[in-house]
Amino acid sequence: MADQRIAQCLQLCQQARGLQGDALAQTLDELRSNLEQLAAERNAPALDALQLNARRIIEQLQEPIITMDLTGYLTGWNKGAQNLFGYTAAEAIGQHVLFIYADEPGEPGEASADMPELFLERGDAFIEVRRRKKSGEIFWAGLSLSVLRDEDEEAVGLVAHLSEITERLSSEEKLRLHTSIIEDSDQGILITDANECIVSVNAAFSRITGYLTHEAIGQTTDLLRSGVHDADFREQVRSAMHGAGPWQGEIVGKRKNGELFPQSVSISVVRNDAGEITHAFSIFSDISVLRAAEDRMQRLVNYDSLTSLPNRTLFNKLVTQALATASRSGDYGALLAIDLNRFTSINDTFGHEVGDELLRQVGQRLRLALRDEDVLARVGGDEFVAALLSIQKREHSGIVAQKLLTALEPPFIIDSNVLHVGASIGIAVFPEDGHDTASLLRFSDVAMKRVQENGESGFLFYCAEMNQRAKEQWQLESELRHALSSQELLLHYQPKVSLRTGRIVGAEALIRWQHPVRGMVSPGKFIPVAEETGLILELGSWVLEEACRQIRAWMDAGLDMPPIAVNLSARQFDRLLPARVQAVLDRHAIQPDRLKLEITESLLVRGADEVIPIMNALVAMGLALALDDFGTGYSSLAYLKRFPITTLKIDRSFVIGVPAEENDCAIAQAIVTMGQQMRQEIVAEGVETVEQMAFLRNLGCDQLQGFLFSPPVAASDFASLVRNGVRLSLD
Ligand code: C2E
Ligand code: MG
Ligand code: MG
Repeated sequence: MADQRIAQCLQLCQQARGLQGDALAQTLDELRSNLEQLAAERNAPALDALQLNARRIIEQLQEPIITMDLTGYLTGWNKGAQNLFGYTAAEAIGQHVLFIYADEPGEPGEASADMPELFLERGDAFIEVRRRKKSGEIFWAGLSLSVLRDEDEEAVGLVAHLSEITERLSSEEKLRLHTSIIEDSDQGILITDANECIVSVNAAFSRITGYLTHEAIGQTTDLLRSGVHDADFREQVRSAMHGAGPWQGEIVGKRKNGELFPQSVSISVVRNDAGEITHAFSIFSDISVLRAAEDRMQRLVNYDSLTSLPNRTLFNKLVTQALATASRSGDYGALLAIDLNRFTSINDTFGHEVGDELLRQVGQRLRLALRDEDVLARVGGDEFVAALLSIQKREHSGIVAQKLLTALEPPFIIDSNVLHVGASIGIAVFPEDGHDTASLLRFSDVAMKRVQENGESGFLFYCAEMNQRAKEQWQLESELRHALSSQELLLHYQPKVSLRTGRIVGAEALIRWQHPVRGMVSPGKFIPVAEETGLILELGSWVLEEACRQIRAWMDAGLDMPPIAVNLSARQFDRLLPARVQAVLDRHAIQPDRLKLEITESLLVRGADEVIPIMNALVAMGLALALDDFGTGYSSLAYLKRFPITTLKIDRSFVIGVPAEENDCAIAQAIVTMGQQMRQEIVAEGVETVEQMAFLRNLGCDQLQGFLFSPPVAASDFASLVRNGVRLSLD
């Protein structure tokens, strides 16, 4: 039995080496009770050996352990005590324990100078005490005491086990700290008593609410009442102040200056020992800045910054909700896709600031023409969309569309510019045309595009046949992509003849698409699709490459061919164009005077500053520029002077009317006169009759291009015409 106990004691001694704090105290307790048992069993030799062992271990422990006799003189001082206090065992043993006390007996913070006696009365104890190190530093320590007894159970001394408490604060210090935390807090703090009267507020409270402490104290929390919350909500807050549990939420408060402000609030209560609520306190922060930022974010996410109208995101949300309601109540609805006509040219000609202001004013006019419950959004550059929710009849949306067009009729006056803009409106009706926002938007867009094709303001209702056409366009696009890579494209050449000599002086390269199933597809059909999809860039590169390849082939065959003109899309016209053209010329070893470039007026309205440097670069390379379809665009004759253009091509639409139509004759005459003044070469396009030819020749046109002489023909046919010296008869 004794052996077993000894083994256990030894084990406990071993264990104690690695332990600290409570675990150590527990192990030591266990060891002590084992030793006491052994003493009781009177196994003296074993006990002595063990006690020696235990003492050595204790001496080495990192945990501070001190032993003393019953009068308080130190009998043991281990390594841990030495580390903690700075005194060696030699310095400490024999001293009275008071030498490590921080305060004079009876001073605050000291439990009692008679502590050992006290302990003996109460049994085991754990107390917090203040002690002084050799360095003079005073610190708080946790002290646990146990009694040392002799074989006859007589108390012979005390074991003190100390641990430093670094975070210990006195109650005054605690109070001081808490008060300053409350006072300096960024959050407003308000404390009320059980009668809901304000008894304390902090500085942040005054800063946020505008009420000084003396103005708030004695008042109830109604002082801050904004009046925006309903009775239910107020009841929730009141019951939180009466102990219904902690509450957190947002309350709109009112400042002293009357301004309302959102606050994030948490409310809790304080109870006394009897569990009664003595106080309630609320901690709040002013979140108006946060709210304002959130609102701004919301606006950015949901509204168009230019017109302040809802954007596509919000529009989709609102319309989707409205459609859900409408489908329950059996109402009609309509989406109107509105696209401004000629907006791009106005933007390009007059600058973006004018363009932006125009969009703002258009938005205002459209908004005013609609009813409050209708939704109007700006969904793209010059695209608006209106949702008419709950209309009685399909036809009513047509009336609204007409109203919108009428609203746009009076000119817009911006920076003394008088601007006219029309619009194309496509209408899709719910539920006939579609049930969801996405399809209705798509269909109204299809109808709008259809109106746009006419080039005049107007509106159209969507019908299934339109969608069929839209689908065909998509089909065309994918087939065109395929055509580019599978040699279905080719160039035809239409001769230009001199109106002085009748000789061929040039040719225009015109693209042709030999479709395996559809046969020859007209560029009038696929160029617009290519323009819309951006495929025109690849297409344009192909044309340039192919024309140059052909020129080189003719040169290699020893043919003396006139210059070939290639049509350029406005989209191809960017800063890198000159370098791209140069690369193609170099690749085929062609002089620049063998090639001409035809551009259209739509390019000029982009703005002289952007376009002229590119044109100058091309001219500097030795290329000549021709202005195609002249007279159909937006640019004034005077504006034209600024561009380095060598050739004007009078559009076919004016040629058709000569010599019969007075207006057309006048226009043709004006163009020729102006071109001559600017020393530009004038080419008449689409000349089909001898009368037209004679009239234009008399006006002073330089060249003619048209079926009268030749339609566009295959490269080999054009080469034969040149080789055979075929001429236009000028008689
Ligand atoms: P455009 O550049 O104004 O070309 C002249 C168009 O008028 C050609 O139509 C030509 O065949 C047609 N034409 C010429 N003489 C007569 C005539 O006496 N009577 C009639 N009724 N028509 C005549 P095409 O080849 O169908 O080309 C139409 C348009 O497609 C071109 O107009 C041009 O804008 C565009 N296009 C054609 N090839 C290309 C190209 O390689 N690149 C680009 N970007 N556009 C091209
Ligand atoms: Mg052309
Ligand atoms: Mg033309």
